[in-house]
Amino acid sequence: MESLTFKELCLSKDMYKAIEDLGYEEPTPIQAQSIPFILEGRDVIGQAQTGTGKTAAFGIPAIEMLNPDINKVQVIILCPTRELANQVAEELSKLSKYQKTKILPIYGGRPIERQIKALRRGVHIVVGTPGRVMDHIERKTLRLDGVEMVVLDEADEMLDMGFREDIELILDQVPENRQTILFSATMPKPILRLTKRYQRNPQMVKTVHKKLTVPLVEQFYFEVKSHLKTEVLCRLIDIYNVKSSLVFCNTKKQVDQLTETMRSRGYLVDALHGDLKQRQRDKVMSSFRDGDIETLIATDVAARGIDVENIEVVFNYDIPQDEESYIHRIGRTGRAGRGGTAFTFASGKDIRKIKSIQKHTGAKIIRKNIPSQSDVEDIRAEMLSQRVKDTIDAGHMGKYIHWVENLLEEDYASVDIGAALVKIVLADVKK
Ligand code: ADP
Ligand code: MG
Repeated sequence: MESLTFKELCLSKDMYKAIEDLGYEEPTPIQAQSIPFILEGRDVIGQAQTGTGKTAAFGIPAIEMLNPDINKVQVIILCPTRELANQVAEELSKLSKYQKTKILPIYGGRPIERQIKALRRGVHIVVGTPGRVMDHIERKTLRLDGVEMVVLDEADEMLDMGFREDIELILDQVPENRQTILFSATMPKPILRLTKRYQRNPQMVKTVHKKLTVPLVEQFYFEVKSHLKTEVLCRLIDIYNVKSSLVFCNTKKQVDQLTETMRSRGYLVDALHGDLKQRQRDKVMSSFRDGDIETLIATDVAARGIDVENIEVVFNYDIPQDEESYIHRIGRTGRAGRGGTAFTFASGKDIRKIKSIQKHTGAKIIRKNIPSQSDVEDIRAEMLSQRVKDTIDAGHMGKYIHWVENLLEEDYASVDIGAALVKIVLADVKK
């Protein structure tokens, strides 16, 4: 069930085009599981953690099911905050890019007159905070007679914020034959009470946590603002002198963009995603194996089948959708008992996701500061000492020992000899 493709969801052509533009390659598990039920007209309770794509899970069927020729509010989506209302409205606008759907976010702190005007002109989907939506209902500026679907998004947060009464007032007034969809990251009792009272024979959809084994990989994360990710990626590759890495993005579009940018900066990169024909993929993969490509930029789907030895670093350029894909991704490095490294970029609310990945998998993801150019020498020295230790451990140094002994006989101190060698090597790397 989880591996349903978007095609198998039987959506409209316009919806496929919009999804294509967004670069989504495959439905997330919560999308694959809930969209069919919602399209059937069922009430649904959806539970999945933050960042798993719940917005499109209700947004896609909501847009598909409403009739844009009827100039009435047909879907009401309730969100806990104005930021979320805006985000949801934005995502729905992108999903309905090729359709005539009119979407209006309504929340407090914005002049109500403008919202009233927009509502009068005609809106199909209202996305709002419960307080402001209630406000419009009381003023009769939001008519409910055409409403076919109510979505409670982030229901647990809405209850935490004290919106229960408003939500109940709204649900009491919306026509009874509506469809009621509830999405939440957690399912505490008050939510279950709400679903008992307001949903009809709801279908529970839950993406479960599988037990995952964390591979032997050193894991770090960097707090990086979105617009700086490319810069930081390049810097890390330079500093650590990474010769073989896999970079994960969440969308095909991002893969293409990043590949383009890195290539123009002179990096040996190529892209791997679902749009490539098998022949092209094979070609990319063999160049990667041969080292002609040092950095492979891929989506999860495309990377699923690949098996390459000696990948030094896995970069999570975008934070993965869920912990399972995190574990899959980082497992690409550090094969065959050798330790690899995973670097994850996180910005804003991604930090919460890092915490959640750690909690559910037991993975240790250590925060690291973005290295500045002046850290370069320290990092190189650190890498060099590791190499020195490894070389000593591996033995076979006979003739080199002899050579150092010659220097010692000339009355040079061993610590000076060592320091001079480090200096020479680091100067060489810098060139
Ligand atoms: P949630 O509501 O579960 O916290 P969101 O709906 O906000 O998650 O989605 C999180 C991110 O994932 C958004 O940036 C969204 O655009 C992206 N996303 C959603 N569905 C997909 C998909 N099928 N493939 C790739 N990215 C997706
Ligand atoms: Mg959400």
